[in-house]
Amino acid sequence: MNHRHLLPNEIDLLVDGEAGFGVAPLRAHLDECHQCRARYEDERVVVDALEAMPHFAPDSRLIDRVMGQVPVFVPAHIAARDSVARFLPQPGPARVAVAAVFASVAGLVTMGLIWIATQGDAAVFMTGLLGNRLRLTLMGTARDAAVALLGEQALAAVQATGIGAGLLLAGFVLTAFGTVAGIRRLATVSRR
Ligand SMILES: [Zn+2]
Repeated sequence: MNHRHLLPNEIDLLVDGEAGFGVAPLRAHLDECHQCRARYEDERVVVDALEAMPHFAPDSRLIDRVMGQVPVFVPAHIAARDSVARFLPQPGPARVAVAAVFASVAGLVTMGLIWIATQGDAAVFMTGLLGNRLRLTLMGTARDAAVALLGEQALAAVQATGIGAGLLLAGFVLTAFGTVAGIRRLATVSRR
């Protein structure tokens, strides 16, 4: 016989019907010690009563109600990506078409900026209606964009040789072609 009484967790093991290594001596103690046997019986009664109670399942709307009150922090770049994704169609031809249209528009804007950067006088004339400060800002931005895209030397070469117009025309035709193709594809997909 053990010379100490059972610990609460040891009585838990017996109540749970554990049958692992080391449980046999605990059970042997229970058979010989009235005090521990009484504690075991008391716990047994409580556990049996709990198990006899009807089992409830939480309301299926509980998660929504709880989460509705939890402020979830969404990082800015995730939020931006999600809002873009909401406007994008499912992956497939439609998404390809949207990407084509987006690339075309971006290309058009880039072409416009390069044109403004290369056509100094014309750009000044064209933007003459704008305020002086806004015009300078626009010209500076266009030049920066063109330099970033072509590099300082290439931009100078384009300006000097006047190949800018040809380049621009080719770019514009390609861009317009891409836009039309994209929109046609989008129309075909949405008709299905
Ligand atoms: Zn005991």
